[in-house]
Amino acid sequence: MRKINNRIRAVSAFFLAIVFLGATSHVTPKKDEPLANQLFGAKQTASDQRPEVIGYYAKGCAAGAVKLPETGPTWQAMRLSRNRNWGHPDLIAFIERLSFQASQLGWAGLYIGDMSQPRGGPMTSSHQSHQVGLDVDIWMLPPKRLDLSIPARESLSSISVRTNDQRSINQNWTPVHMAILKAAAEDSAVDRIFVAAAIKIDMCAKAGKDRKWLKKIRPLYGHNDHFHVRLKCPKDSPNCKSQTPISRISKGDGCDKSLTWWVTDYLNPPKKVTSKKKSKKAKPRPRRAREMIMADLPAQCVEVLNSK
Ligand SMILES: [Zn+2]
Repeated sequence: MRKINNRIRAVSAFFLAIVFLGATSHVTPKKDEPLANQLFGAKQTASDQRPEVIGYYAKGCAAGAVKLPETGPTWQAMRLSRNRNWGHPDLIAFIERLSFQASQLGWAGLYIGDMSQPRGGPMTSSHQSHQVGLDVDIWMLPPKRLDLSIPARESLSSISVRTNDQRSINQNWTPVHMAILKAAAEDSAVDRIFVAAAIKIDMCAKAGKDRKWLKKIRPLYGHNDHFHVRLKCPKDSPNCKSQTPISRISKGDGCDKSLTWWVTDYLNPPKKVTSKKKSKKAKPRPRRAREMIMADLPAQCVEVLNSK
């Protein structure tokens, strides 16, 4: 018995050593190493560099970002205390374009939610992406006025255009919402747009013959009180990493089984799911920002962080 116990002890010591040595040689954060989320979250202004997108939407940063004016002729930036109304000049130009189109379609303009932090990078809360200055959340609440005070922009909330059971759109969804989303999808700077599946299902049903734009509209959990527009990599940013083209993920306009999955199996996972990985996939990811250290980001992000 003692012999066996000794052997167990030796074997477990061996594995402990592997785990321990593995942990020390791996790039895990050093003790007291600050998270990149904290470092980027603390920056109040853009880097003094030429505008450039560095890395991937969920793993990168933004050099020389531009601040979206808090109020423009056809938009207002919301939740100014977050200081997330920064982006690549392409994103600022896009917001100007789309909000003007919204004003032509019957709204006063657009309420603009989170874009990126002044230097991009991972955030301390909410988003995994929005790191490179090419993502913007736009409220589903149709603005009636564009003279909201700063406190009003903190307290006012957007509205959901989807039922609580996630299966269909509700009475807040209007033809103007659809026209604005179509205008956004037809903008050549736009790579893709994320909305709740119920919204895309409705647009698939109502689009008629002109459906080419629908492929850019991608279903995703949440996204019922805002839509998320993601721009393509700008020409001035050779180190910007593109997302897999939609044509490689989905065929045609995407009005197919992969879309209805979101209102069927996603909400009611079939019982026969055996592997842990699969059952994990069926649950929405928590809305927590991923913790990163500087070594997780492209090396250029160190300069972005340390620039004047
Ligand atoms: Zn977003």
